[in-house]
Amino acid sequence: MRTIPNARIWRPDGWQDGVRLEVDPHGRIARGGHGGTTDQRVVPGIANLHSHAFQRAMAGMAERQTDANDSFWTWRETMYRFAGRFTPETLHAVAAQLYVEMLEAGYTSVCEFHYLHHALDGRPYDDPAAMSRALIEAAQETGIRLTLLPVLYMSGGFDGRALGERQRRFAHDVDSYLRLLDVLRADAPGTLRIGCALHSLRAVPADAMRVVLDALSADSRVHIHIAEQTGEVDDCIAMRGARPVQWLLDNADVDARWTLVHATHLVDDEVRGIAGSGATVALCSTTEANLGDGLFPLRAYLDAGGAWGIGSDSQISVSPVEELRWLEYGQRLTTRRRNIAVTEASPSVGETLLRGVARSAAASTGHAIGTLAEGESADALVLDINAAQFAGARDKDALDRWIFSGNRNLVREAWVDGRCVVDGGRHVRSDVIATRFAAAMERLLAE
Ligand SMILES: [Zn+2]
Repeated sequence: MRTIPNARIWRPDGWQDGVRLEVDPHGRIARGGHGGTTDQRVVPGIANLHSHAFQRAMAGMAERQTDANDSFWTWRETMYRFAGRFTPETLHAVAAQLYVEMLEAGYTSVCEFHYLHHALDGRPYDDPAAMSRALIEAAQETGIRLTLLPVLYMSGGFDGRALGERQRRFAHDVDSYLRLLDVLRADAPGTLRIGCALHSLRAVPADAMRVVLDALSADSRVHIHIAEQTGEVDDCIAMRGARPVQWLLDNADVDARWTLVHATHLVDDEVRGIAGSGATVALCSTTEANLGDGLFPLRAYLDAGGAWGIGSDSQISVSPVEELRWLEYGQRLTTRRRNIAVTEASPSVGETLLRGVARSAAASTGHAIGTLAEGESADALVLDINAAQFAGARDKDALDRWIFSGNRNLVREAWVDGRCVVDGGRHVRSDVIATRFAAAMERLLAE
């Protein structure tokens, strides 16, 4: 029986002193014994609900103006150029580096929204799951917990137009897509979940969506990009007669198995509709800021009791601290008020935010994680209580200090499945993976 060091442990119901987390041979928390008082502080590992691993290779490389009206759509051109260069080998090298960075930052699990399926000319590889397997191997090599979400991507717009040349790598018809899910599920070890992702309403015709949803197992997770851009909202109204979220709620059995990514542009009925459905919204604050998407109506959504989590999405930032900080700061900037993400019972912003993240983790990822409860997988972070940011910290302010104070990374250890994969702030395989990543970047950037 392995043991995570004695600690003060934070769970969504608060801090508890002197807890010894014992881990059974399956990596699950066996029981929370008592091991005496200690200063050590342990929190649940953070779930990253939305990631496109390959985009790590272009982080910081779309920050030069190409057009006076640069927007999401001009950024997408740069992204397509990068997407065209990947092989299974370079995807593996980039994803492994990304997952090292996630673990060091405090993400212990990741939902990979994966649409880079085929060879450059659009033909499937000899193994049609080759690119999926590259991501699975990167996760296994680094120890991060993975929910792989192969993406169904069929059309280039709401009018059903064919995919462009640079989108051919993403394409499936319904049959080949369902076959891919079957192949991946047949091989999946217990620590891996295979879910379903619909790229967006504009990329998946309504009848195809229905066929795929009907074919999924009852416990399959379903993730979808939705209402990220006002242009998408306008097109959906024009072609389907309703706003995207409203259309989805009216045309699919959206429930707690669903994760709606971004959901930036909502009217009040949609805010209440998502919250009432039990679905999770994956908020990607730094990516949404970087792309100029707009601001999610967080306060109204919290008032409606909605579930939400965070994602690193474009990998412009790989840090749950920065993601949560900017989620709150965006609201402060637009309302000109402070301390927005709180409740009457929970006046600490940091604690309220971490509670939101913890409570959506299992529903969105399909893994038993998030709250360090008995029977859950032992995915935990040991914070560096010797850091200056924690000097004199008390239970009531420790999480606010972690999220809002300074920029030094305060994750000292990251544990996944009861195994320590980050020790002393460094991933145990970071050197070899960084060397391989540098070589892969040379290949990706070669003209
Ligand atoms: Zn995305």
